Amino acid sequence: MTKNASGVKSKIWLSAPHISGHEEVYIKEAFKTNWIAPLGPNVDGFESDLEGYLENESHVTALTSGTAAIHLALKLLNVSAGDEVLCQTKTFVASVNPVIYVGATPIFIDSETKTWNLCPELLEKAILDRLQKGKKPKAIIAINLYGMPYNVTDIHAIARKYQIPVIEDSAEALGSHYKNQPCGTFGDLSILSFNGNKIITTSGGGALVSRNRDTKKRAIFLATQAKDPGINYTHSEVGYNYRLSNILAGIGRGQMQVLENRIQTRRAHYEYYKNELQHISDIEFLEEPENYFSNRWLTAILFKTKTIRDGVLQALSKENIESRPSWKPMHQQPMFENHPSYLNGVSDNLFERGLCLPSGSNLTDVELDRVNLVIKKYFG
Ligand SMILES: *Cc1c(COP(=O)(O)O)cnc(C)c1O
Repeated sequence: MTKNASGVKSKIWLSAPHISGHEEVYIKEAFKTNWIAPLGPNVDGFESDLEGYLENESHVTALTSGTAAIHLALKLLNVSAGDEVLCQTKTFVASVNPVIYVGATPIFIDSETKTWNLCPELLEKAILDRLQKGKKPKAIIAINLYGMPYNVTDIHAIARKYQIPVIEDSAEALGSHYKNQPCGTFGDLSILSFNGNKIITTSGGGALVSRNRDTKKRAIFLATQAKDPGINYTHSEVGYNYRLSNILAGIGRGQMQVLENRIQTRRAHYEYYKNELQHISDIEFLEEPENYFSNRWLTAILFKTKTIRDGVLQALSKENIESRPSWKPMHQQPMFENHPSYLNGVSDNLFERGLCLPSGSNLTDVELDRVNLVIKKYFG
């Protein structure tokens, strides 16, 4: 076991960046050709790599972050002050913050146990209730949490029935698919993230995936300060500075070459944990339902009780191993207190009992063993 000079065991991270070695070629090229700007051949190349990977008429706009991509998605759907947006409550806060940026109100919807994602029945119930209260929701934000696709068939049937556009937050799910179609291609608009902890990274970055070229054009317009045509810097509307740097896009191009490998590795980690720990009756794994394929961005497991979960988290932390409770639902966040929510107890329960285990694709067998042994030891 690796210890440093002071005898502390080396840190095991939840999901560390994993560089492939292919990135530097693109970065060097950017320096050599002086494309040190938020546009250039790497930005174009990274977008076309992603479009080739996603297929299904995907048009990709590379941006500074996944959060920026959600913000632009809301702008593209004309969500504005006073509007309501339906959002999965069980998620990372970045899914919801942009709703506040545009002055709209997030309405939180609970999850189903099968996928941990949006519960179709509750979604429809919420829509009917909002309609009855006199306001039609402007958008639905559906999440592919930890890489597990949401129930695409049912959620989109409801969205179509009530004609509400879906923003698919696929920040955690590049490489996942549902009925053999890639996540990131289901939303009217979809978003991806390349933050340092995601399955591939540009250090920081994101993308908006739209279904046609005109929407992509408008996304680029908004992401580059909304400058009207002509030489005079005339602006008829508010824009943003959201385009991805050509240097960072170079990292993305290198990362795209190993995406398949990263998916296989993270899935193998999930299988390892499952093989090692499934015999412990206090531990439960989130299985893939038929037609669902998860990139297993993070292996998230459930313990029988919160006390056990907290105990395991502490035992891991003592061994310098990072683990994390599964996302605290948005309806429990202090800043969203008293927000309208449609709840069934599932996300509260997952938050109490859920734990994310180290899942990075550069974890070594020795590190995985260390995690495994701490958990086994906890259960005697
Ligand atoms: C990471 C993440 C985001 C935000 O992406 P950034 O690139 O970090 O801004 C949004 N939604 C979810 C579910 C995420 O995990």
